[in-house]
Amino acid sequence: MPGLEDLYREIILDHYRSPRNKGELESPPATRTEGFNPLCGDEIVVYLELDTTSDPAKVRDIKIGGQGCSISQSSASMMSAAVKGKTLADVKDLTRAFKAMMSIHEQTLPGEGHGKEEAGDSGLGSVEADIPDEVNLGDLEALRGVVKFPVRIKCATLSWNTLAQCIDETIA
Ligand code: ZN
Repeated sequence: MPGLEDLYREIILDHYRSPRNKGELESPPATRTEGFNPLCGDEIVVYLELDTTSDPAKVRDIKIGGQGCSISQSSASMMSAAVKGKTLADVKDLTRAFKAMMSIHEQTLPGEGHGKEEAGDSGLGSVEADIPDEVNLGDLEALRGVVKFPVRIKCATLSWNTLAQCIDETIA
């Protein structure tokens, strides 16, 4: 379906050219975490401010710095837009859904108690089943095609791994 791929390319390029939430937050109070993908030279800096006065805690603000390829930078832009204002539980669901789309079945998501299942060779057919129904990935769906290029998957997941690390450092 070439029409869909064109649409996805447009979405990726739009986020690359006009990155959402680009910038910095004063740290502290924000937490600043850097992530690198040496395979491609991508660099992502996540600035995260949680609202811990609300219950459950929410992402009050997030800014993204860094540089790199269009996949890493557009993924970071989409990620920042997707998680802003969300609860940490929602962020975790989004992270899990995005990684499932990338065919990554990780046991390292923060606070995960039951994530010990092996990656296995689950085949592409079962990837869909791992995405929680209630999670709407929105623009992030545009990165679906990346899964066909395994060397680029780390570009797409860099911002999410950096965010997870940043959350850990914030609530530690
Ligand atoms: Zn890259």
